[in-house]
Amino acid sequence: IYNFNPGPATLPLPTLEEAREALVNYKGSGMSILEISHRSALFEEVLQSAIARVKRLLGLDDRYVVLFMQGGASLQFALVPMNLASDAAPVDYVDTGTWSTKAIKEARILGKNVRVVASSEDKEFTYIPENIPINTDAAYLHITSNNTIRGTQYRSFPYAGSVPLVSDMSSDIFSRVFDPAPFGLIYAGAQKNVGPAGVTLVIVRKDMLERTPANLPTMLKYTTHAEKNSLYNTPPCFAIYMVDLMLKWLEEDIGGLAKMEAINREKAALLYDYMDSQDFYRGTARPDSRSWMNVTFRLPSADLEKKFIDEAQKAGLGGLKGHRSVGGCRASIYNAMPIQGVRALVEFMKDFATRNG
Ligand code: PLP
Repeated sequence: IYNFNPGPATLPLPTLEEAREALVNYKGSGMSILEISHRSALFEEVLQSAIARVKRLLGLDDRYVVLFMQGGASLQFALVPMNLASDAAPVDYVDTGTWSTKAIKEARILGKNVRVVASSEDKEFTYIPENIPINTDAAYLHITSNNTIRGTQYRSFPYAGSVPLVSDMSSDIFSRVFDPAPFGLIYAGAQKNVGPAGVTLVIVRKDMLERTPANLPTMLKYTTHAEKNSLYNTPPCFAIYMVDLMLKWLEEDIGGLAKMEAINREKAALLYDYMDSQDFYRGTARPDSRSWMNVTFRLPSADLEKKFIDEAQKAGLGGLKGHRSVGGCRASIYNAMPIQGVRALVEFMKDFATRNG
């Protein structure tokens, strides 16, 4: 089955096959990868390898620290303002829908001086705002690089000068090449392009760590996890192992980020070009803001959408239902979705339109 679910998403088959072996007997240790100690040399190797792959793939220099944390991207909504902003400093956010709205909410709960400097709420979050104002007094500018539910994505990032950019990249990290230099912190729940749910990738520039207040609980401080190399407490070892395997696939089988980006562009173009060529399906995102990861679209009626999703499922194309908050349809085409899956979807869409148009 081709799995178009928005997450947990498809994992590459070679990754799953290697993990199957490791589940029974990891590297001839006579133990499962689930059983080895997080303090053992075997796990240390996994952790170092995963960190090195993140750094190589994203071109991160020694100014950046790679952390594996728990609590999902949702916990980062709170940890970012807790760690990076003093109570007096304003924090700037761009609101591009559900996930950024939730990040804003957490910063407000913490009593931070939140400024929503740009928003696309006026048009139901169907676009990425342009000319985002940069305020030099902000502790950071927070954006959501890809909006999983609305199907929008930044084509280029706001240039924030001396203000560090912070981005939730949960649904598009490792999908394309970008310059990490303007980013003070990047976080991503793993379960789309990085690995299984249960681990959250946090990339933090070392100078940002100096901001962590002393009076935060130990587990909520980025400094704790940075100082202990993500081993302050028991990490999600299996999930980190899967991240290493997934990034190995990206480096060795795909050939790196530029190659991955070319494939992702091609996959997205197949769908969008087809949608632009006819009237039955209607993309919901403004063309200049379209996501290469989550392709959102409507059919002429809710009844036809239901029929489309059901028939697609029977044809081996799963998970095409839009998020329950917005309805419609959504094809999530993360890194591990092969181009053959997208071709099969376009063929199915054509056939369905002919039969129901
Ligand atoms: N941010 C984005 C962009 C997401 O797509 C999601 C989940 O889909 C989240 C945050 C929430 O992530 P988590 O479930 O890891 O807390």
